[in-house]
Amino acid sequence: MRFATKAIHKGSEADETGSVVSPIYAVSTFKQPGIGSDQKFKYSRGANPTRNSFEECLASLENAKYGLAFSSGVAAEMAALSILKSGDELVTTAHMYGGTYRILRDILVNYNIGAKYVYSTDAQAFEKAITKKTKLIWLETPTNPTLKIIDIKAVSDIAKRKKIPVVVDNTFASPYFQKPLSLGADVVVHSTTKYISGHSDIIGGAAVTNNKRLFQRIKSYQGAAGAIASPFDSFLALRGLKTLEVRMKKHESNALQAVEFLSNNKNVSEIFYPGLKGHPGYETAKKQMNGFGGMVSFRIRGGEAKVKKFVSSLKLLSFAESLGGIESLAAAPYFMISHSSLSEKERAAIGITKDLIRLSIGLEDIQDIIEDLDLALG
Ligand code: PLP
Repeated sequence: MRFATKAIHKGSEADETGSVVSPIYAVSTFKQPGIGSDQKFKYSRGANPTRNSFEECLASLENAKYGLAFSSGVAAEMAALSILKSGDELVTTAHMYGGTYRILRDILVNYNIGAKYVYSTDAQAFEKAITKKTKLIWLETPTNPTLKIIDIKAVSDIAKRKKIPVVVDNTFASPYFQKPLSLGADVVVHSTTKYISGHSDIIGGAAVTNNKRLFQRIKSYQGAAGAIASPFDSFLALRGLKTLEVRMKKHESNALQAVEFLSNNKNVSEIFYPGLKGHPGYETAKKQMNGFGGMVSFRIRGGEAKVKKFVSSLKLLSFAESLGGIESLAAAPYFMISHSSLSEKERAAIGITKDLIRLSIGLEDIQDIIEDLDLALG
């Protein structure tokens, strides 16, 4: 089965009622015939049919055997990070979603788990950061918000030689544009809040893998810590997946046109989009992705005052947190939840300056999006 077919059918096989979509099993517990039953569903923290449908579909789209759905992207990340133990270290890209950084800086540190940050996108820089204590490599690519590209295969090859698992946050690309497991990564995590569900109506997360041992570790953490996706959120995420391919194609074609517009605007000083030939990750993106995605960042000329004017002048685009929904959003990562928990110095080190704008290009008519950007840029 090909991508779009799997997206529509996997996990949605008709039950005894003949339903063509997977119904919402709003159920906490399941009747057992007697002691020692080996039935699949007993208590919904462990497994729920609606959650299972979504997990099965997402796993199939990532070419994975196992999938687990969580109540948020950061809950999925925490579960993936639970494969580390006290005294371990991870090597991670410094360019990442601010909430992931917050987990490493404010939570894992209390469990005596250290993080080594790699500022370069070069695979050799990751290799150099590895020590005897390194028990995990964490990648995010394309990165939030400056759209840096890391070569997943090159880093995974190094990690394999050293027997270190690689986790990739695939939120920005979605499995339609990038399949990290097929490039050698061991676990993929998602904020399913974004492109996976696609309609800005849930908060969710997921982890998928082909590695049975890692799956069991992450599942055991999920069952014990309990940050599961609810049946209703799983239903919405599964419904979102069914249109992932058509949405991602349109996100990208709109983004390419928005980039062209921004490239010709005198108030834009720098554009970050991996599909631009001058982008340092362009060749790697072309090699490891089927497309460049719908996220575009840029710097505005004129500093903070101009940024404030830009965001308050938008009429069609919403100035809001998040990304990956059908509606276009603009964010100023320096000032918002996504990265504001980083100190001034931490933000500067990864290029998050006051003049940075991140756009999640939606599915509206691109002329309307461009007209709005044009007016707001003044
Ligand atoms: N990973 C990336 C790349 C993100 O952008 C986000 C949220 O913006 C997350 C993870 C966290 O996801 P959630 O907000 O669903 O917890």
